[in-house]
Amino acid sequence: MRIVLLGPPGAGKGTQAQIIAGQLGVPAISTGDIFRANVSGQTELGRKAKVYMDAGDLVPDEITVAMVKDRLAEPDAKAGFLLDGFPRTIAQAEQLRGSLEELGHGLDRVVELVVEEEELVRRLSGRRMLVDGEWVQRDDDRPETVRHRLQVYREQTAPLSGFYDGEGLLSRIDAIGTIEEVTARVMTALGRPVQPGQPSDG
Ligand code: AMP
Repeated sequence: MRIVLLGPPGAGKGTQAQIIAGQLGVPAISTGDIFRANVSGQTELGRKAKVYMDAGDLVPDEITVAMVKDRLAEPDAKAGFLLDGFPRTIAQAEQLRGSLEELGHGLDRVVELVVEEEELVRRLSGRRMLVDGEWVQRDDDRPETVRHRLQVYREQTAPLSGFYDGEGLLSRIDAIGTIEEVTARVMTALGRPVQPGQPSDG
């Protein structure tokens, strides 16, 4: 299956992407994770991306699209994938459609996780990540950057909802609830409902 997971920062995309990709047996591909790995590894790509990430802005399409194209060409993504955090602009969505068409494929479904903005701010400002045994706040989860990221989402990424709805691919999912509840809703939207008694985390 070829799936895109859409949703604002703080909607739980990363968590759901891991669980759902595990259940579908496809790789979860997170552009944010790839960028962060490049920043930690101090690569050229990481150096370029960091400036935008720290400001809460999108990394330019030409950098991001080339990176995703390379990742999708890897053998583990041949039979399917779940994209988390890509596309984030209409231009990226069009590039993705073009790349998949070249390979004779298309997306099977786009799942949008829906959470209202007040709840997103609350979640993001309280979020911590475990790095080398310590709980740390992501630089871009600071309150002023969070507000900017949400604005960027509204302006540049939210239009993707209409774009994919127009293609008949969109499922909008209420992403308020426990992790298991949200996973179950997504799996139902993907036509793979979780059976009663079956663990939803994999
Ligand atoms: P995320 O972990 O998905 O919240 O992404 C963290 C940051 O990485 C974003 O705020 C952007 O700066 C950058 N980023 C991730 N995915 C993309 C994308 N598809 N296009 C542009 N920038 C991205």
